[in-house]
Amino acid sequence: MNVLIVYAHPEPESLNGALRDFTVDRLRSAGHTVRVSDLYAMGWKAPLDAADFLERDAREPLNIIAASKHAFASHTQSADVEEEQRKLMWADALILQFPLWWFSMPAILKGWVERVYAYGFAYGVGEHSSRRWGERYGQGVFKGKRAMLIVTAGGWETHYSARGVNGRIEDLLFPIHHGILFYPGFDVLPPFLIYHTSQLNEARFQDELSALGARLDRIGETDPIPYRAQNGGDYEIPSLELKAGLSAGRHGFDIHLAGDDGS
Ligand SMILES: Cc1cc2nc3c(=O)[nH]c(=O)nc-3n(C[C@H](O)[C@H](O)[C@H](O)COP(=O)(O)OP(=O)(O)OC[C@H]3O[C@@H](n4cnc5c(N)ncnc54)[C@H](O)[C@@H]3O)c2cc1C
Repeated sequence: MNVLIVYAHPEPESLNGALRDFTVDRLRSAGHTVRVSDLYAMGWKAPLDAADFLERDAREPLNIIAASKHAFASHTQSADVEEEQRKLMWADALILQFPLWWFSMPAILKGWVERVYAYGFAYGVGEHSSRRWGERYGQGVFKGKRAMLIVTAGGWETHYSARGVNGRIEDLLFPIHHGILFYPGFDVLPPFLIYHTSQLNEARFQDELSALGARLDRIGETDPIPYRAQNGGDYEIPSLELKAGLSAGRHGFDIHLAGDDGS
């Protein structure tokens, strides 16, 4: 497989740097072709702004969606954005790797998403009408590709458990898994997480590498998180509310998982 790792940590000698190097080596040893977008090393520009649209008329107010649509369709996006889009199209699998910062991804990685996910590429795809809401959530440009997060967190695993004070990790990652990855079509694999990073001694570090290696060895076969497809019949049109009777008795983000009760 072709694997693209988009990596966001400013320090190569960090835990994340070690995990990144391990991941690249492990995947290459298994015969995969790997490319890395090391956002800090690239000096990635995080803000989505007027400079991204090379043909924009500066006399007009900036309408980001219209400018993005035009720039993508007319090949007048900035070169760094086009290059990342090419890498995404090349990849069979995408890994986003980052430390959890303020309960989400570092700003530089969010900026990568905002800039690279152009209108007509990752959103605004397919028919948008009173009876259809485009090709998204299970369809879209990345249909057939896989994606996975590798995340480190300072907090304990219990802090992120069902009754943990930080909220469930599944909930915190839902906007990334379901919004950023599933929306434009990726099959989203369960994340690989390392908690309590400040107390990571050499023995646990080696255990974590073993566990990560096992996950990477199965990157092509691991079952994705069973999110419901938008256009698969589970949602009302045009309200896009889950149909009555599905995920009955459940609430929150989990209702968008196809139930283990067959619903
Ligand atoms: C701005 C900010 C916001 C944050 N927000 C959150 C949050 O919302 N929730 C949360 O849970 N945490 C949060 N944190 C903590 C953060 O998630 C962790 O600091 C981060 O995940 C640790 O990853 P690192 O690569 O920076 O680790 P490092 O600091 O590089 O390393 C952590 C430990 O790993 C070990 N280690 C490192 N490299 C190696 C190696 N090569 N071999 C063996 N052992 C090694 C060492 O023991 C080291 O002390 C935040 C931190 C910051 C700076």
